[in-house]
Amino acid sequence: MGIYIHIPFCKQACHYCNFHFSTATKYQEEMVTSIVQELQMQQAYLADEPLGSIYFGGGTPSILSEKYLARIFDTIHQLFKISSNAEITLEANPDDLNKDKLLALKSMGINRLSIGVQSFFKADLDMMNRAHTPAEAISALELAFEHGFEEINVDLIYGIPTSSNDSWLKNMEKAFNFPINHLSAYALTVEPKTALAHFIKKGKYPPIDEKKANEQFEMLMHFAQAKGWTHYEISNFALPGKEARHNTAYWQGKAYLGVGPSAHSFNGLSRQWNIANNQTYMKAIKENRIPFEIEKLDTKDQYNELVMTALRTKWGCSEKQIAQFGEDYVLFFRKEIQPSIEVGLVAQVDDVYSLTQKGMHYADRIASDVMFV
Ligand code: SF4
Repeated sequence: MGIYIHIPFCKQACHYCNFHFSTATKYQEEMVTSIVQELQMQQAYLADEPLGSIYFGGGTPSILSEKYLARIFDTIHQLFKISSNAEITLEANPDDLNKDKLLALKSMGINRLSIGVQSFFKADLDMMNRAHTPAEAISALELAFEHGFEEINVDLIYGIPTSSNDSWLKNMEKAFNFPINHLSAYALTVEPKTALAHFIKKGKYPPIDEKKANEQFEMLMHFAQAKGWTHYEISNFALPGKEARHNTAYWQGKAYLGVGPSAHSFNGLSRQWNIANNQTYMKAIKENRIPFEIEKLDTKDQYNELVMTALRTKWGCSEKQIAQFGEDYVLFFRKEIQPSIEVGLVAQVDDVYSLTQKGMHYADRIASDVMFV
């Protein structure tokens, strides 16, 4: 069981971003009041089991002042049981992390930081319109370790037009020079209606070079493997035993409650998502309504979710898991996965199927092959 809190504010808009956020940060107090109220309204969503993870994501959770974060925390403590060893993560941008902030986060019980470094090169950061500098990224990491954070994830982005394979190698080396235990790496993608899509259309930046992005992903897989790390989900790498518990629970189909605008919740039978608009969200909560849409998952949807998520992980997807939906689904899966096994994209060990290193490059296509339409 986990809780996700979406903090929908950012200092400035990164050119590639399609997450829900607003730069109107003056509404922080009102938003925190709404989030606290939604937590109270949603207290019964999860069964009465202790929370194994709490995750502050966004947007930029580190933008919130200590007093607002503490208000949310206090509410979670009042309403839910929290496991004594719960993983409590906060996404942070380097420019928000100074000594005082880190001490406050630590004293609140946050025991894991996910730091949005993205690149240690100014040209990459400028191109993506990130708010921080390479020096701030390094200082944030140094300070976080200095102030006792042991569980630290670094986010990096590969395939950036201003990068080369050489600069990507340096990015990986710089990240791994810190005693981090987790790395999330995403390919730069061009989402419709983002500033990046506009700039590429206008010729300001070249289109994304898929070949270079694939080469850099391949370099990362080899690099992490040589360090003894596990590649446990397409975009996620960790020291053995340091896999993120919150995200792993998503991929393993466990229930979670998402609070805040655009946040998703899942209870095994349905998935629901809050409206992605700060003002509409806050107005509805004031009226004691949670503005969400819901999708009930039928057997076919549940099967599709399982294969789509499980195949992205190192644990893979087993026939035993699929059998809960009926023998027809097992037969369908076996038939549709076969071509990917034959060309070495999927490996089968007993009744468990997982992507090979080569298959990691084609995860979406392989998942869509085995989905029931
Ligand atoms: S900091 Fe994160 S959420 Fe905010 S604009 Fe940049 S990528 Fe998007």
